[in-house]
Order: sequence, then structure tokens, then C-alpha cells
Amino acid sequence: MSARTPEAHAAELRAQLDDANYRYYVLDDPQISDAEYDDLLRELIDLEARYPELQTADSPTQRVGAAPSEKFAPYEHERPMLSLANAFNDEELRAFDERVRKLAGEPVTYVAELKIDGLATSLRYANGAFERGGTRGDGRVGEEVTPNLRTINSIPLRLRANGAVPHLFEARGEVYLRKSDFEALNAKREREGLPAFANPRNAASGGVRQLDPRLTKERKLSFFAYSLGIVEPPADRVQTQWQALQYLKALGFPVNPNIVQCASIDDVVAYCETWEERRDELDYEIDGVVIKVDSLAVQERLGAAGRDPRWAIAYKFKAREARTKLLDIAITVGRTGTLNPNAVLAPVKIGGVTVQNATLHNAEYISSNDIRIGDTVLVVRAGDVIPRVVGPVLSERKGNPRKFVMPDRCPVCGADVDHPEGEAMSRCTNAACPAQVFERVRHFCSRGAMDIEGIGDVMAQQLTELGLVNTIADIYDLDEAKLATVPRTGEKTIANLLRNIEASKKRGLTRVLTGLGIRFVGTQTAQILAGDFGSMEAIEAADLPQLQESEGIGPEVAASVHLFFRQHANVEMVERLRAAGVDLTAPKRAKDAAGKLAGKTFVLTGTLPDMTRDEAAELITAAGGKVTGSVSKKTDYVVAGDEAGSKLAKAEALGIPVIDEEGLRGLLA
Ligand code: NAD
Repeated sequence: MSARTPEAHAAELRAQLDDANYRYYVLDDPQISDAEYDDLLRELIDLEARYPELQTADSPTQRVGAAPSEKFAPYEHERPMLSLANAFNDEELRAFDERVRKLAGEPVTYVAELKIDGLATSLRYANGAFERGGTRGDGRVGEEVTPNLRTINSIPLRLRANGAVPHLFEARGEVYLRKSDFEALNAKREREGLPAFANPRNAASGGVRQLDPRLTKERKLSFFAYSLGIVEPPADRVQTQWQALQYLKALGFPVNPNIVQCASIDDVVAYCETWEERRDELDYEIDGVVIKVDSLAVQERLGAAGRDPRWAIAYKFKAREARTKLLDIAITVGRTGTLNPNAVLAPVKIGGVTVQNATLHNAEYISSNDIRIGDTVLVVRAGDVIPRVVGPVLSERKGNPRKFVMPDRCPVCGADVDHPEGEAMSRCTNAACPAQVFERVRHFCSRGAMDIEGIGDVMAQQLTELGLVNTIADIYDLDEAKLATVPRTGEKTIANLLRNIEASKKRGLTRVLTGLGIRFVGTQTAQILAGDFGSMEAIEAADLPQLQESEGIGPEVAASVHLFFRQHANVEMVERLRAAGVDLTAPKRAKDAAGKLAGKTFVLTGTLPDMTRDEAAELITAAGGKVTGSVSKKTDYVVAGDEAGSKLAKAEALGIPVIDEEGLRGLLA
């Protein structure tokens, strides 16, 4: 039994929570996961319920957020911006419903909304024009950030009026960052040698809470409105939360399309379950569902208890972040010789999956985040991406844990490691490094490239270890005698392998180009190059400006392709592929109005019923169309199959036509 008194326990929890609040709300740099924060808060709430005399006015259980930073002018909320009590499971939702119905004394219905993980903001309009806006802060006073908010495209600068607008109007909502914009932002920061943001929320909050509006604009933030503040004169037709959302929409605010009305708590529970499963389909992060009593009159009657309204609750999804111990940092050598540091973690469950490995990006990421071996670290796992170490939990650091040093010799072949100035990655300088050869062979034979069945991880490893394959071209020199030396490989396997290798010769230029593993050249770039140049020879001979004439080929990609074909070893390898009879040509893409899809840009997402995405892309390019990787205003069609993800959501948000496989066949017919 711990000898800790309840007083001491409460004081300790308060100190921990105060510190976490400061790091989260003021510095935008949390050190503990949201789930851990929620656990601590819950512990304090329970303790204060058992010992009411311990409750103080400044307890984190009584306060919203944190006091505004002095960097900004204060922004006073005439009507306070509240926080929300949390529910973590069905029972807690049902208990909430029971409390509400008892207090209301009448039947209640609810509105359920996605809980957008961003920054709560209030916007004020005078006679229909955006006047100023501020963050929530401690709920009473926030930070005035008007110039920054003005840069956010989805915040209307004028209300759309159908008749008279209220002379005073306040909209409240969430400033957030789309996942796609977050990824682009972090990729850019990585290129510039800046530390990556831990998550879209921190990047959004940091983007609003700084002093240079140009920086806010660069972050490409977005906004969803979800409630009304003060409206003068009051809008009589708005009697419910649902009507409030429709009203916001009519005035020109973006309102999340996934809002629903729920007649009962059963509907609410079902909605929460659905979105907990589907959250990865969205192009923005949600951390739960907000449930609000629909009738504004009932809301008013129920009022608030401390910092939380009694008429609403936040259902929190299961955490996808956790803390665990960083046991070691292991290096793997990639296809292009990059030395990739990977975290070896003490196994930890995150959102139902046991995680033992996570990416650490590169040495710069490790040092700028001060991640050390032996630290307790924060790990996030979002969607199906590889888990990522966000940073150390400094409060848990004991002693002086070991700093990571990138080795100056390749851990696989012992060759020198090069760290080019201005580049994030260190590289093994030995092109013949077995780890690199293995990765190149595996990539060349993979489904997305030459699709040679039978040469997967194990066979590629054996072929390279035995020295049978030292470059990609050696694959086409394999014969029965050579393959017979591979352990546990029977006649039948050998015959199959040789047949598959032979068949791969006819895959065509796009797949060969993809398989070569030229830096920055994935399937889509390979398609563009193959379609524009028609043959490997033409690509080899092209100079930089010619390469860049291809749409979608920027200076970086062009330079990489050009450099590849200036290496003697590469030219020789391609020559051997040609001599072996590998098809190095492609149908040239119809220029101008020739093809059915000329001038049209497509994005493919999800699983199509009868063709792979690569096959669809080949058909589109052959008809003169172009396939790109991300949805923008320039996209003409999004072709979506099953389990389409954020690209579909983005297409819907931008109003870009979405078609299915049949629709695509229709366009091609
Ligand atoms: P909250 O996140 O539990 O809920 C309130 C907020 O939800 C609102 O202010 C608003 O910003 C947001 N919201 C999103 N969609 C909404 C919608 N449709 N309708 C209404 N509101 C919507 O409360 P909070 O006080 O902002 O934050 C507390 C939470 O923040 C904690 O539960 C924790 O997860 C996290 N936190 C973490 C740390 C940390 O160190 N990791 C520290 C402090 C807070």
C-alpha cells in the first residue's frame, strides 16, 4: 500500500496535468499521449469525487484548456467556449443518455458529429463581414489571431446572405489540417532539414498560434463550423443544433458532411462504432464523436457542470498512441543504399495491434527530437502506415541514455557511408552491397514491377547470397544448372521460375522502368516517361530539358533519371536486358486530341473489381490520359474502387467527378 495521502496524490496529479496542459495548449508540443492525459484526468476526477474537500477552483478538472499566451492580444469570449466530458465506451454513453433524460424530463433526440482533431476557434462577423477571431484559450479568454484566420480559405470573409444578415454573428468550429496537406508539409520540412510535426493537430495549432500570417497560409489549414456563438438579433428559425448546422451551411461555412440526427442512444452508439472503424477513410483526423442534445431549449435548461456542458459529451476513440521503451535502434540498408534507422521497441498494444518496430526516419530526425536509446518514447500508429516514434518522454528519462550515432561503415558490407551535405539520409557507397542488391532484385521482381512469381523475399535473398544474382540483369542469365545450386529447390520449382522469368520479358517499358528503382521513379512516373518517349533508348538519350517537357516530371525527377543513365554500370545493365530480349518499348501516348482521354487527368484509389490500379493506369495512359498520385483542382476524374480512402474524400470535398471501373470503361469505349 502506498503511504501517499489523498492530498498528496491530488497535488501530484494536478502538477502532471498542469504541465501536460502547458505543453499541449501553449507549446503545441505534448509529451504524453492523449490517452495518458485522459487517464490522469479521470483519476483526478474520481479522487475529487471521493474527497470533495480536495477540489480547488484552479484544479484542471475545473478549467478548460490553458491560459492564453502573452504573445497575442487577449480575445474575450462573451459566451464561454466550453470543453466536453468524455465517454470511453457504450455504458458511459448510455449513462450520459440516462442523466440527460432525467434532467430534461422529456424525450430527447441527439445530433452526432465527428470530433475533428484540431484547434477550437471562434469567428466574429459584424454586419456580415469577418471582423476578428480567436482561439478558445481557457474558455473565457483566448488569443486574438485574426490575420492568421483570414488566410484560411474555407473561412468565409463575408457571410452569404439570403436577405438580411445578423448584425453580430459568431461561428465556432475547428481549424484543422488535412492528412494529405500534413504529409506534404512534413515531406517539405524533411527536405528543408526541419523537424517533422508529430500530428496534424499540433501542426494546425502551431500554424494558427504564431505571429506571421504567411506561415499560416503555407500550412494550408481548413475549417469546419459546428456551433453558433452570439447571434444578434437571434435567429428565430434556429431551435435545434441540427438547424444551427444548416444555418451555418447556408451562411457559407463548411459544415462536416457526416453529421446525423439520432432518435435514440442506440443510434448514437451505432454511429460511434461506424466511425471508429471508418476513421481512416477521411482526409482529416478525428479522435471521437461529439454527441449533442438537439433541442437548444433543452440545452439551455441543462446548463453546464464546471467546464463541461451537461447536454453534450465526447465519445473518445481508442488511443492509437502509446508509450514504450526504445530498446535499440537497428539499421536496415535500402535499395538505394540508404541507411534506415528503425526503432526496436518493447512490445506495446496500440489500437489493438502489438507494435515492436517503428520508423525513426533518419539521423537528423533522431537528433533534432533528442531521441535516445533507453528512453521511454511516444509512438503513434495511424491507419495502415508504419508506426512512428514521435519523441522521448523527457519526464521519464533516467540517467544519461545513449545517443544514437549513425555508423560510418555499412552494417551489412562494411563499406564507407556517405552523408551528402544537405541530404537527410546516409548511404552505403557500395553499389554491390548485398543488402542493396537484395532490395533491388526483390523490387524488380515484385508485383508492381516485373511481377516474377517465385522470386520473393526468400528466393531473392538466396540468389544474392549465393552470388548468382549481382545485378538485375543476372536474373535473365539464370538457367537450370545455376538454380539447381539453390538449396531446397526442386526441378518443378526451377521450371516454373524459368517460365516466369521468360514471361516477364514481355511486360513492357513501364514495368521495367518501375523495376529499375531509379530514385523518384515509381509506377506513375514510369508510365509518364514510357508514354512520352516510347522506348528506353529515347529516355537514355534525352537531355534534362527534354525530360522535363513531360508533364509531371519536375527538375528533381529529371535530374535523377538523367544521372541514372549517365552511370556506365546502369547503361551496361540495360544493354544486357535488351540483349536478353526484355521488351524495352511502350505504346507512345497519343498527343493532343488524338486519344479518347487526351488532356484528362485521373487519380486512382481503392480496389477495382476487375483490374489492378496499374492496369487501369495503363489503359488511361494508352488513351492519352494522365494518372497522377494526388487529387487537386486539376484532376478531371477520380476512379474509386472498394475501400477508397482519403483521395475519395478529397474528391468529394473539391466536387471532382468520381467514377467506378465501369464508368472508366465507358469513357474508354
Ligand atoms: P476535448 O478535446 O475533450 O473536447 C472539446 C473540443 O472538441 C472542443 O473544444 C472542440 O475543439 C473539439 N471539437 C471537435 N469537433 C467538435 C464538434 N463537432 N463539436 C464540438 N466540439 C468539437 O476537450 P479539450 O478540452 O479541447 O481537450 C482535452 C483533450 O485534449 C484531452 O482529452 C486530451 O485528449 C487532449 N489533451 C492532451 C494533452 C496531452 O498532453 N497529450 C494535454 C491536454 C489535452
